[in-house]
Order: sequence, then structure tokens, then C-alpha cells
Amino acid sequence: MSRTLRHVLLIAALAVVLVGLAVALPPLTERFHAWDGGSFLGDVVKGWSLTVLHPAYWAVLLIVGLLELRWPARRGEGLFTVGGAQDLVWLLLAPLFALTIVAGYVALLQRLYEGPLGGAALDVDGTLGDVAAFVLAFLLADFFMWFSHFVRHKVPTLWRFHQVHHSQRMMSMLTDNRVHFFEAMVSATIAYIPARLLGLSNEAAVAIAFLTVFFTGFTHANLRTNLGPARYLVVTPQSHRVHHSTEEPHWDHNFGAVLSVWDRLFRTQWNGAHEYPTIGIPDPDFPLEHDPSPTSVLRTYGRQLLYPFRAVLADLRR
Ligand SMILES: [Zn+2]
Ligand SMILES: [Zn+2]
Repeated sequence: MSRTLRHVLLIAALAVVLVGLAVALPPLTERFHAWDGGSFLGDVVKGWSLTVLHPAYWAVLLIVGLLELRWPARRGEGLFTVGGAQDLVWLLLAPLFALTIVAGYVALLQRLYEGPLGGAALDVDGTLGDVAAFVLAFLLADFFMWFSHFVRHKVPTLWRFHQVHHSQRMMSMLTDNRVHFFEAMVSATIAYIPARLLGLSNEAAVAIAFLTVFFTGFTHANLRTNLGPARYLVVTPQSHRVHHSTEEPHWDHNFGAVLSVWDRLFRTQWNGAHEYPTIGIPDPDFPLEHDPSPTSVLRTYGRQLLYPFRAVLADLRR
């Protein structure tokens, strides 16, 4: 099959997913509101937790997993590997922290915003209208995700936590869920206050969180595609693979979440669009997964969860 046809098929598959989401979104949003997140980002955190438990997510996961078997970026990676099994544990146990530590922390941030900052906000929705406000909210959220990702690579302590995400050697759509809860708190800090100051609505925030979960899942897929010319606008499975590369020249490039424009603007975009490097981290002490059995991946999850704390302490003593 020609490369152009492959790109067209993948973009069509993505379009189907996004249309499906647009249909699934309103009833889901209603469900989150019924659950009462209690705060702006609390809703987002809960929204994310429910998104990955929704049948649509698992349907997309299966479709992308099968596409990975047909057009893998590299053979031996993808959903049906030990790395996929480990990522599944990260996905299933994430709500434990999202609904407790992260939600509690976000509630604290909210108090800070309402206290010392006096709850000040621009009325973006009222001034611009719903659609323009949504587009602006999406652009800002995507920029803050870029910025927060950049910071997590540049600050050594934060890198220790982000390293967990980069430890994957067998990328799949699930790898997007291999994220330490401490990272979620860092992202919340960077994104929460500016978003609140702009007065963005909960609905916009929840919708953006949905779209981002599906899109960043897709860019982690083990797929051999750079999406053709669409890569000038959005992040692709190829460009995000370069971000995870084991090859030093690739490091500190392609930080984008959905749009690739921030990397182009800040000159952190890696221009090679046909490279599919091996992925992973150069830390020999990191507790990598080797055995897909349930007890082993659970035990490894515990070790991977604790490793950044131990590594930060060791770095401080050095
Ligand atoms: Zn990264
Ligand atoms: Zn990644």
C-alpha cells in the first residue's frame, strides 16, 4: 500500500474517531456534571478518569491496536506486548490518585485562586461568543501543555517523574497513560491559574480534556505514519516517537500535545519526518517491566511509582 494511501486512511480513521467523539461528547459531559467535580480542574480530572473507562475509548484502543499490527512503526512494539500490559496497569490505577491526591491538590489551588487572587477572571465566553472562546481555550490549553512538557524536561527533579512516561520501550496508544500522578499536579499548577484567569467555562475545559486524551493516545500509537502534510499542523505518531527517542540528537524536541505549531514557533521541532527511532531512557537503574503476568506488572507498577521519589533523594544527596 502506498504511503499516501496509508496517510489518507489514517486521517480518515482519525476523522471518524473525532466525529464519534462529537456525538458521544454531550451525554458524557452531562454525566460528569451530574457527578459534580466541584471545581474547574476537578471536573477535568474526573472527566479524564471517566473518558478512559468509556466504551468509546476501548473501541478506539482496539482499532488503533489492530492498525499497529498492520502498520507498525517498529515490530515488537504496540498494545499486545509486556509494555502494553504495564501501561494498562498505569491506566487502570490512575483514578486512585486522580480522585484523591490530584483532586485534593487542585482544590487547594482553587482556594489560592479564590483567596489571594480574588477569583479575578476575564469573561472570555461573554466577550467572544462560544465558538471563538472554545477555540481560544483550546489554543491556550495546548500551549500550556507544550510549556508544561518543556518544563518537565528541563527541570531535573521534574524530569525524574516524567522519566516514568519515557521509560516505555514498546510504544502503544496506552503509553499516554503511563504518567506519574506528581506530573499531573505539575501540569495542573501550570495550567489551572491561567485558565481560570481567562474565565474559561467548565464545559470547554472538559471537552478539551476529552479531545486531548484521544488525540495524544493516537500520537503514542506504534504506527508508521507522519500524517503527510497534516504534520505541519499537528503532532503525529512519527514526531512523538522522535520525542521518545533513545538517540541523543533527538532529545528535547517535539514537546507538543496536539498542535505542532508551538514546537515550530519555539524552534524545538525535529525536522526529520521519516525517522522511527528506538525509544526509551538511558537510566540503567529504572525498574523496567519484563514479565506480562498480572502479579509482575502490579509489582513493577509499585516500583515505577516509587522510583522517582528515590531518584530525587539520591540526586539531592549527590
Ligand atoms: Zn517528554
Ligand atoms: Zn509521550
